Amino acid sequence: MRTASPLPSVDKLLQHPRTAGLLAHYGKTQCTDAIRAALADARNQWLAAKDSQTAPGADILLDAAEQSLQQLFAPRLKAVYNLTGTVLHTNLGRALLPQEAIDAVVQALAAPSNLEYDLADGGRGDRDDLVEDLICRLTGAEAATIVNNNAAAVLLVLSTMALHKEVIVSRGELVEIGGAFRIPDVMTRAGATLVEVGTTNRTHERDYAEAISAQTAALMKVHCSNYAISGFTKSVPDADVANIAHSHQLPMIVDLGSGTLIDMRTWGLPYEVTVRETVEAGADIVTFSGDKLLGGPQAGIIVGKKSLIAQIKKNPLKRALRVGKLTLAALEPTLRLYLHPEQLADRLTTLRLFTRSAADMQQQAEVLQAPLQNALGTAYVVEPTAMSSQIGSGALPVESLPSHGLVIRSADPRRAGQLLQRLEAALRQLPRPVIGRLRQDALWLDLRCLEAANQSVFVENWEKLVLASD
Ligand SMILES: *Cc1c(COP(=O)(O)O)cnc(C)c1O
Repeated sequence: MRTASPLPSVDKLLQHPRTAGLLAHYGKTQCTDAIRAALADARNQWLAAKDSQTAPGADILLDAAEQSLQQLFAPRLKAVYNLTGTVLHTNLGRALLPQEAIDAVVQALAAPSNLEYDLADGGRGDRDDLVEDLICRLTGAEAATIVNNNAAAVLLVLSTMALHKEVIVSRGELVEIGGAFRIPDVMTRAGATLVEVGTTNRTHERDYAEAISAQTAALMKVHCSNYAISGFTKSVPDADVANIAHSHQLPMIVDLGSGTLIDMRTWGLPYEVTVRETVEAGADIVTFSGDKLLGGPQAGIIVGKKSLIAQIKKNPLKRALRVGKLTLAALEPTLRLYLHPEQLADRLTTLRLFTRSAADMQQQAEVLQAPLQNALGTAYVVEPTAMSSQIGSGALPVESLPSHGLVIRSADPRRAGQLLQRLEAALRQLPRPVIGRLRQDALWLDLRCLEAANQSVFVENWEKLVLASD
């Protein structure tokens, strides 16, 4: 039986000439940990192995330590290319922000600011004041407050307005948003009781009216963000639900989900109800996201009646759900772009992407075909193809935008599955990973989110592709 392992000591490896560089780069604590871990691995392998196995030397141990240090120090959050065709892709971080917002965030990171400081009188300020006026001007609402996301907005609104009371919602609107946001669950967590009315496909005015009792705190409508009910359907328009609520001295709440501040038809895009229209229809409180159609940072925006917003701001949960300075720094200039709608499609990044013409993307696909084909070699065939992209994040779920991109197929159809998976995996390993969509035995790369300014860097990145061989 073997007793003492022939491995070098931790100290010996720390003194090794090669370690000096690692120590300078990664520091003593992490180098020592990495060396200990490499030694522990080697010791276990050595103990498990047959007698004939020789223990690894210093170089092999330091290689292992260096590799784990590199991994530890490599950034986890990486820039990727979103060629999925879904512009507001929740898993890829949703909205890309306009330059004005990027600049403001950089400034807020580096310098103190008047986040909660009133520069006019030197007293304490309220962080919502930075954007409240702008939001009211853009939506027609009396007041506004901001929280971390729309899920938080819904939670805060219900917890303020309906604690230990009932909220009436149509069965056709009991939405689940990806990532486990379900209206019934949020309702429970907020301490409110959900009263479902109507059926999945049809809800009438009388359904709401008959459900109202002394326990009712509010009537609520939830925007069907990520699905559409079609066929034999009926839902009650916002204005009619508001009328029923008001005739019983109750407030009406709308979770608008995406929420847009402008009529998207201005740019030939599909219609989506605006926040202003919802306020005008009589909603007393409207909640929506900052990083969906609005094109700003992750945030939940709550607008509505002054007295209700004041109550919401007094709820202790508001303090727990409030936004940080980076969010407000990004939100303010994004909102300001909406004051100048004539320039919005140039300056608001998301709208610029939504409105890119298919002809523009087609030309781009034709230019990119050759360099991509070159890097891939003969095992694959790259072809420019018309396709359609989606807005995403539950905004306009059934609408798609005519788009153009590249479709990559295996040159050998019998091995299509294997070769495409190999390609898709290799694209994820690029310095800047490229994320496309596998469908119909092909990899689809929608070019909508690859703007011309980024095209040459995209090609350089693509040329670093390393495909596994058989
Ligand atoms: C997206 C969405 C939410 C959640 O918004 P987040 O900002 O992602 O928290 C809630 N309700 C509806 C209807 C939505 O579409």
